[in-house]
Amino acid sequence: MAVNIIDEKCKGCQKCLKACPFNAITMEGKLAVIGPSCTSCGACVDVCPFAAIEKTDEAVHTPNISSFHNVWVFAEQRDGKLMGVSIELLGEGRKLASEIGCELCAILCGENIDELAKELIAYGADKVYYANSPELKTYTTDGYTKVIYEAINKYKPEIVLLGATHIGRDLGPCLAVKCGTGLTADCTKLEIDPEDRKIKQTRPAFGGNLMATIVCPHHRPQMSTVRPGVMEKAVRDDSRKGEVIPLKTVFKAGDIRTEVLEIVKSTKEIVSLTDAEIIVSGGAGLGSAEGFKLIEALAKKLGATVGASRAAVDAGWIEHSHQVGQTGTTVKPKLYIACGISGAIQHLAGMQNSGYIVAINKNENAPIFEVADYGIVGDLYKVIPALMDALDQ
Ligand code: FAD
Ligand code: SF4
Ligand code: SF4
Repeated sequence: MAVNIIDEKCKGCQKCLKACPFNAITMEGKLAVIGPSCTSCGACVDVCPFAAIEKTDEAVHTPNISSFHNVWVFAEQRDGKLMGVSIELLGEGRKLASEIGCELCAILCGENIDELAKELIAYGADKVYYANSPELKTYTTDGYTKVIYEAINKYKPEIVLLGATHIGRDLGPCLAVKCGTGLTADCTKLEIDPEDRKIKQTRPAFGGNLMATIVCPHHRPQMSTVRPGVMEKAVRDDSRKGEVIPLKTVFKAGDIRTEVLEIVKSTKEIVSLTDAEIIVSGGAGLGSAEGFKLIEALAKKLGATVGASRAAVDAGWIEHSHQVGQTGTTVKPKLYIACGISGAIQHLAGMQNSGYIVAINKNENAPIFEVADYGIVGDLYKVIPALMDALDQ
């Protein structure tokens, strides 16, 4: 569907402007113009007294697709610290940019975080678009969407990548709607065709039972959110040179409709599964919340982080932040020890790229053994204490 203004009929009365719930219509002189945030809802069509707005069946394509260039990475920061996923995206973005012969750029929002701009260059950005403003100190949907949308409109990136973090999952769809393009959420693999420059965005679908590969053929930018912990991190090189381009940040009253009064951090210990080198995970085979004491004891001995299957989380034995898998965290430690975990596809989706996988399970036919490098068939309540004794020696 497409909604168009018939220029010859438009008298410039501006009635359609008020009718549009998406603020997609602007006036260029005496002519109404429909912008990229039009959703083809049709609300303006009958409002026009001169029948100057038509709705057609043709698909709306981004005009001048060939004028879009470069790969952009949203550089997510919190408290002036770059999130790990942004460094992973710079690693992946560099590969895509090399394949199609374009620049890798980062877009950074915050207040007085000039050091981060340098860090992004060290991690591979050729250019950093930097929006520095008190209004951007902490994330708000409106503030970040406005600044980044204006930058996308001006500089026309071909590809925009965001981390599938809480912020990225909020910001990505807002930007995509405003830009009138698509967004593939939660990607685990990106490839690009150097000929037609379309990215193949792969993500789990139907509860993780199959992988769907999605392309965005007619709209730009091509946008994806990417799961943290899946892509290789870019390597830092402080001798790299790049350009920092300041962005204009003008906010008027009402542009940001929410106010951050206070940031309350969880008082519970925050687990960082993504960065862990060793993870010991427990599943339903533990039988009760008490079982995690044994998992914690083994983890402590190994300097490891505690993970869990969804069954253990759903049973209320451990916090969701420990969950590994499709609806938890994707991890890539050097060593992953799965204790009492059957190896459902949704769990494997989050840990099968680990360096070494050790599985302890009393059922020798458990699917976890198919991905394990070392499998121990036995009762975890006997195997884990024996392992700990061996480690002590
Ligand atoms: P079970 O499948 O019940 O396995 C328990 C295992 O413990 C068995 O293999 C058993 O032989 C073994 N065992 C029992 N007692 C002992 C013992 N004493 N010693 C040794 N072994 C023992 N799951 C995730 O983990 N992460 C996700 O992110 C996730 N996302 C999902 C998303 C969707 C849309 C859906 C539909 C499901 C998702 N799941 C996820 C759930 C997943 O399908 C499985 O149900 C879950 O992983 C099972 O957890 P488990 O292996 O701990 O439990
Ligand atoms: Fe033009 Fe019709 Fe919009 Fe009036 S309502 S500005 S005539 S398109
Ligand atoms: Fe706005 Fe809907 Fe008209 Fe598009 S079709 S310009 S979104 S009112």
